Amino acid sequence: MSKQVVIVGGGVIGLLTAFNLAAEVDRVVVCDQGEVGRESSWAGGGIVSPLYPWRYSPAVTALAHWSQDFYPQLGERLFASTGVDPEVHTTGLYWLDLDDEAEALAWAVREQRPLSAVDISAAYDAVPVLGPGYRHAIYMAGVANVRNPRLVKSLKAALQALPNVTLREHCQITGFEQEGGRVTGVRADDGVLAADDVVLSAGAWSGDLLKTLGLDLPVEPVKGQMILFKCAEDFLPSMVLAKGRYAIPRRDGHILVGSTLEHAGYDKTPTEDALESLKASAIELLPALADAEVVGHWAGLRPGSPEGIPYIGAVPGHEGLWLNCGHYRNGLVLAPASCQLFSDLLLGREPIIDPAPYAPEGRLL
Ligand SMILES: Cc1cc2nc3c(=O)[nH]c(=O)nc-3n(C[C@H](O)[C@H](O)[C@H](O)COP(=O)(O)OP(=O)(O)OC[C@H]3O[C@@H](n4cnc5c(N)ncnc54)[C@H](O)[C@@H]3O)c2cc1C
Repeated sequence: MSKQVVIVGGGVIGLLTAFNLAAEVDRVVVCDQGEVGRESSWAGGGIVSPLYPWRYSPAVTALAHWSQDFYPQLGERLFASTGVDPEVHTTGLYWLDLDDEAEALAWAVREQRPLSAVDISAAYDAVPVLGPGYRHAIYMAGVANVRNPRLVKSLKAALQALPNVTLREHCQITGFEQEGGRVTGVRADDGVLAADDVVLSAGAWSGDLLKTLGLDLPVEPVKGQMILFKCAEDFLPSMVLAKGRYAIPRRDGHILVGSTLEHAGYDKTPTEDALESLKASAIELLPALADAEVVGHWAGLRPGSPEGIPYIGAVPGHEGLWLNCGHYRNGLVLAPASCQLFSDLLLGREPIIDPAPYAPEGRLL
């Protein structure tokens, strides 16, 4: 298709959107105000599931299911073409001492997901390093985590190898060019970039840019802090979650523990309070971590949206302008389905799932 598409924001959403569109349109340009893939998509934990999937709307569930089935092949395809392995690591996930276990189990039956109650002794057998005192557990087999910093690195490498894609890093977009109600490009700090279509996938910053058109997009930054340990490769065989805090094993024995939920504007400074609180949670979940060193501590800004339902589709009244943003706590798991659905809409193809719940129309204030 003879088109130039400009994508604002090179997190997992912008990069995967570019990857999908590059096979279908003449030219794709991705602009990022920093380096691509260094914001929330780098900072996240990479669980390929919402933390409590039964608490979400069918809209989030539909995107999550499609993506979960697709992740292993995405990982293999990116590894084969770039040599950078996103490490889709299938470990399963234990939830411990949940209050809404009955709702979780009913959801699993309805959605035909492999989640079931397990005897607590079976959980201790499977995860011998688990802390004492847990009374009940449910387990979902097949849940993976993706090593998100590698995922964005491999996406970047895949895009750099495509002749019709340009990555413009350190290129901040400050507004949109318009002609007769149509968006015809973006304003960068070093000039104007013309486009047939502009895609806003600027994560937590998406609302600020839309304000320049007088539109109110309810996407706001929600800070999340994580800590990282390095253990033996076989230290933790499964992901575990209790009291809202989780531990994620990477293949090489790195263990991520997260996360906080803070409304602190665009401040990304890691804090001493969060470090202590995350360490305490880590030791309660996995007491042996008391003797392990914290080798990393960082914060990222999730693109918070009402109910975590992303905005995917055309902006009404501004032809040529599209949104793919607002994935809140689930942007890594939802990325494959969101970007496939998005490409279907932009290219006028039959969409993979019903696009109505994600349409910006009626959801912009
Ligand atoms: C601590 C933490 C844990 C998480 N854990 C998980 C998890 O386990 N599973 C999961 O699915 N999700 C998780 N998430 C959420 C997930 O990381 C996000 O939903 C996802 O990364 C959002 O991707 P994005 O591409 O929309 O945003 P980002 O990755 O933030 O990318 C947006 C990009 O836009 C650029 N940008 C912004 N403004 C402009 C501008 N004006 N001009 C040019 N470029 C601009 C930024 O520089 C940035 O690179 C977690 C997040 C955090 C913080």
